[in-house]
Amino acid sequence: MARDVGALVARAREGDPRSVGRLISLVENAAPELREVMAALAPHAGSARLIGLTGSPGVGKSTTTSALLSSYRARGDRVGVLAIDPTSPFSGGALLGDRVRMQDHALDPGVYIRSMGTRGNLGGVSWATPQAIRVLDAVGCDVVIIETVGVGQAEVAIASLADSTVVMLAPGLGDGIQAAKAGILEIADLYVVNKADREGATQTVRDLKSMLTLGEKRAPGAWKPPVLSTVSVKNEGITEFVEELDRHQAWLLESGELENRRRRRAAEEIEVLAVTALRERMGDLSGGDLLGELADEVLAGKTDPYAAADRLVAAVEG
Ligand code: GDP
Repeated sequence: MARDVGALVARAREGDPRSVGRLISLVENAAPELREVMAALAPHAGSARLIGLTGSPGVGKSTTTSALLSSYRARGDRVGVLAIDPTSPFSGGALLGDRVRMQDHALDPGVYIRSMGTRGNLGGVSWATPQAIRVLDAVGCDVVIIETVGVGQAEVAIASLADSTVVMLAPGLGDGIQAAKAGILEIADLYVVNKADREGATQTVRDLKSMLTLGEKRAPGAWKPPVLSTVSVKNEGITEFVEELDRHQAWLLESGELENRRRRRAAEEIEVLAVTALRERMGDLSGGDLLGELADEVLAGKTDPYAAADRLVAAVEG
C-alpha cells in the first residue's frame, strides 16, 4: 500500500486531476489509507490561500467563483474549488452538471473543481471539509475557493475554515436582514453585493453599510470589512474584488491574524479527529495543553493531524 499511496500523492502533486480526485474520495470515504496519505501530504500543506464564499442559493456564487478563477488563472495561480452543499447528499461532481459557467474551466489543468455534499454525513462539514482543503493545498493549489450554500450553522462552520470569508448578497429577498438574523454578519471579512445591474442593488449596499456601522466596535488597526458591488455575469467588479482579497491577505499577514486563524484551525482539525477517536474508545474527555503544542507541529508540517490525534489519545490513555 505504501508505494501506491506514495505514487498517488506524487501524481496528484504533478497536477494529475484524477489522482487529486482519488485523494479527495479517500477523505470522503474515510478510507483506511487516509492516515498514510495525510502523513505524505503534511510537509506540503500550508501555502494555499483559502477563500470562503458563502450566500443564499441563486446570489451568484458559482458565477462569481468562475470569474475569480479566470482572474487567478490569468496571474498563473493553480486554483482548487470545493463547492459544498450541506443540503445535498451527493458528492464527487454531482453538482457540476448544472455548473455551466464552471465548465469554462473544466479542461484547464491548472484548475481542480470538486463538489461535496455533506447531508447525512454526520460531522461531514467539520471533519471531511478541512481534510479535502488540506489535500488541495498540499497538491499545489495556490488558491482554494470554498464555495458554500448559505444555510445557517453549516455556513458559519465552513466560514471558519477560510483565511478570508466572503458573504455574498443580491438585491431582493431581504437578504441583508436574513444575513443579520443568521449571525452571518459577524463572520465576513468582505461583503459582495452581486447582481449590481438589478434594481435595488444600491439600496442593498446602503442597508448593509448602515447595519455594519451600527454594529461597529472595532479596535484600532482592526480590519474593516468592505462592501463591494459586482455584476459577475459580465465580469464587472471582479478586478476590485480580487484586489480587496489581496488587501485582506496582506492585512492578515501583517497583523499576525493569518497565523492565529491557521493555528486555531489546525487545533480544531486535530481536536475533531482526536475527540472522534476518543469517543469511540472511551467517551468524554478534555485534551488539555498538549493540543496547542500539536497544533504548532501540524502548522510547521512536522506531523499531520492523524498522527497528532494519536499522540493526544495516547497521552490521555497513559
Ligand atoms: P449560486 O446558486 O449562488 O451559485 O448562483 P449562480 O452563480 O448559479 O447564479 C444564479 C443565477 O443568477 C444564474 O442564472 C446567473 O446567470 C445569474 N447571475 C449571476 N450573477 C449575476 C449578475 O451579476 N447579474 C445578473 N443579472 N444575474 C446574475
